[in-house]
Amino acid sequence: MAAIRSKNTRSTERRLRAGLAAAGISGWRMNAKDLTGKPDFVFDDEKVAVFVDGCFWHGCKCKRLSKTHKSFWKKKIETNIVRDKKVSRALRRQGWKVVRIKEHELKSSVSKTVEKVRKVVTPPDMSEFDALIRQVRQQAKDAGLKQADIKSAVAKTRGQK
Ligand SMILES: [Zn+2]
Repeated sequence: MAAIRSKNTRSTERRLRAGLAAAGISGWRMNAKDLTGKPDFVFDDEKVAVFVDGCFWHGCKCKRLSKTHKSFWKKKIETNIVRDKKVSRALRRQGWKVVRIKEHELKSSVSKTVEKVRKVVTPPDMSEFDALIRQVRQQAKDAGLKQADIKSAVAKTRGQK
């Protein structure tokens, strides 16, 4: 069982690794054994820990098990769910942001999953803001405006009001 589980986990990890690489997202390492819960991916600079959880073993709602199946594995799965929560809490206390990705998310869309990671690694409001600033600066530069010209334009506008 352990072999099957680790094989499934590895293939979903591979999907995410390929997705991150394709999206040009870097600055991460895999299988951080030095951290609580051994996250599958960590971004050390941003303090973001990413777990790729197999749906069956982590009790994902997408897995509807038959009653006998359920009771047989119930204890193990419940233990995993409790452990997942403990690990997430412990990491958050240590100042980490925790992203948990379910196997089914990766299977349905790698790009959406990568976007989910990106949003945490690069908060969207800041990246949008930075992009806007860069855009305005570039526009001012393209228009041949100098810092002094921008300042005087602003001053004139204020004076007119
Ligand atoms: Zn699932």
